[in-house]
Amino acid sequence: MILIEQLTKIFDALPYPVFAKNAQHQWIYGNAAFEELIGHADYIGKDDRAYFPPEQVKAFRTADRRVFAGEEVLQEEEIGSNLFALTRKVPLALPDGSTGLVGIILASVRPNVHLKDAETSYDTLSLASGDHLRQLNESLSKRARELESCLTLAELKQLATLEIAHTDTTTGLKNRLGFEDELAATIREAEATGKRFGVAFIDVDRFKQINDRYGHATGDLVLSTVGKRLSELPDIFAVARWGGDEFALLTELPNIGQAALLEGFEDAHRYTFRPVKGDHRRINISGSVGISVYPQDATCSDDLMRYADMALMVAKRQGRGRVLPFDAHINDAMSRRLQIIRDLPDAISNSEVRPFYQPIVCAQTRMIRGVEALARWTHKDLGPINPEEMFEIAHACGLAAQLDAKLHETACRDVRRWLNTGAIKYLSLNISPMDIVSIDFAERFLAGLARTKTDPKSICLEIVESAFVDNLDTARSNLDHLHKAGVMIALDDYGTGFSNMRALLDLPLDKLKIDQSLIQSIGSSYKIADLMTSIMQLASTLHVKVVAEGIETKLQSAFVTSAGCDLMKGYLFSRPLSFDAMNQWLAAHQKRVA
Ligand code: C2E
Ligand code: MG
Ligand code: MG
Repeated sequence: MILIEQLTKIFDALPYPVFAKNAQHQWIYGNAAFEELIGHADYIGKDDRAYFPPEQVKAFRTADRRVFAGEEVLQEEEIGSNLFALTRKVPLALPDGSTGLVGIILASVRPNVHLKDAETSYDTLSLASGDHLRQLNESLSKRARELESCLTLAELKQLATLEIAHTDTTTGLKNRLGFEDELAATIREAEATGKRFGVAFIDVDRFKQINDRYGHATGDLVLSTVGKRLSELPDIFAVARWGGDEFALLTELPNIGQAALLEGFEDAHRYTFRPVKGDHRRINISGSVGISVYPQDATCSDDLMRYADMALMVAKRQGRGRVLPFDAHINDAMSRRLQIIRDLPDAISNSEVRPFYQPIVCAQTRMIRGVEALARWTHKDLGPINPEEMFEIAHACGLAAQLDAKLHETACRDVRRWLNTGAIKYLSLNISPMDIVSIDFAERFLAGLARTKTDPKSICLEIVESAFVDNLDTARSNLDHLHKAGVMIALDDYGTGFSNMRALLDLPLDKLKIDQSLIQSIGSSYKIADLMTSIMQLASTLHVKVVAEGIETKLQSAFVTSAGCDLMKGYLFSRPLSFDAMNQWLAAHQKRVA
């Protein structure tokens, strides 16, 4: 129970609308934010009936009575025409000895759902509430941050008795503020007692896909189930929803070896990420976990959280579904990543990232047919950056499209002479997977070709399967558009992805590029001959040409030629070369042929 005198000073300063009612449901206090929200100034001494229809008054009063009886409630309610609020109500000791309540409107939202006037009851609201509950939650975390910056720590501490600022409303767990508080307290305790503990950050893998596929209600069920399971784990003394699909927890660390500890974490991971049952379905889920340890990895809360977060990021990049403790190697990897993130934009605009070229030869005649442009960047401190790493980071920073566009234009200008003299027939360009599913990709790509006066018929665009698993329709419409304009389309890295037959049938493909991992098993796996035969049959059914990638030996080249592959590419013919080196290589090649 709280006393209003102690709190009105704080309430006046709060950005949350706050009100107090007596046992007769009459307002006895409201702060400026509350007054603004309800749009009336003369409410003191009145009750809900003054402003709300009977049905709503009934809903308010049912909740109020529970609070007068000593309960705390969290209620979603309509407080005006199409204005919804998430209100926390807690009992309040009044000077006359009776019990009233304090209501704190944690978040309010005007949802876009169009509710007919006659239907604006609380029941209807609950039915339509999935989306705006989420909006409420989003504005709630924003509010929590505002709250943090506008109140002093002492005031926050006092407010914490209400727990509002520290609780996540979807899961009932602590929120970010609550977790940080708990971590600070744990560090103080550990400094005094010398105990070890762990900080874990947990992320539900591909949560967006779960939401998109099964709906938001199921998404919320997954989150609350994961939260509940985490709370049930032994040795865990704080669990919080960090935001979105991320959780954080603090765990005791029993005095056992590193391997046994990791085993314990793996067990906890298996327990937490069992399938979730809901709505007559079984939803398979997985999660990634990053861990840091006090005092071994760090002794202050910022570093402990940063390191656990780094370990989580690396766990996700290593393929998700795993538990990864922080170590110095992760720190190095993250500093490297940060350096790349920092320097990549300039490297793109200064043309430090440049295309190299690798020849593609005809399997039967060994004549050169085309070149593939492959991105190369030598960083001033870090040396050559692996293109896959570079593109993963570019994608994560939203730079991939810009990087590709720049590389494509440079390559188009570079190869113009080779195309004009007939030294090559086409230029192969790679494209970052996510770009193919952006609506205006085809137009942007063709505009780039036009700028460099490149004939679309001399371009082959290499796409990977992962590009269209999520959005085949947009990928198809972009590729159809490009194909009609004359651009050839090759499916890159064939044999490593999902081999989505529907996509193979639906997309306007001209070439299949067999991935080098399959080529590398020539000679070591007897099944490769059968596999090659079936790929060739598939290619002939689809009327596409087959390119074998990563040819390093004469054996591999003889094998793919006899299997019927049309084109080959690999170190046996040439490594990717700079523009000047490729110029020389082409001249030498033409001489050889002549
Ligand atoms: P990719 O398109 O499948 O390119 C083929 C990769 O195999 C290249 O690696 C190439 O250097 C390498 N390679 C070629 N011949 C051989 C061989 O005989 N043996 C072996 N072991 N490897 C060979 P690289 O240059 O490291 O590129 C890796 C990937 O990065 C590319 O795979 C492509 O997915 C991506 N990438 C490269 N340049 C670009 C670009 O400009 N844009 C986009 N979006 N992605 C690019
Ligand atoms: Mg490629
Ligand atoms: Mg490839």
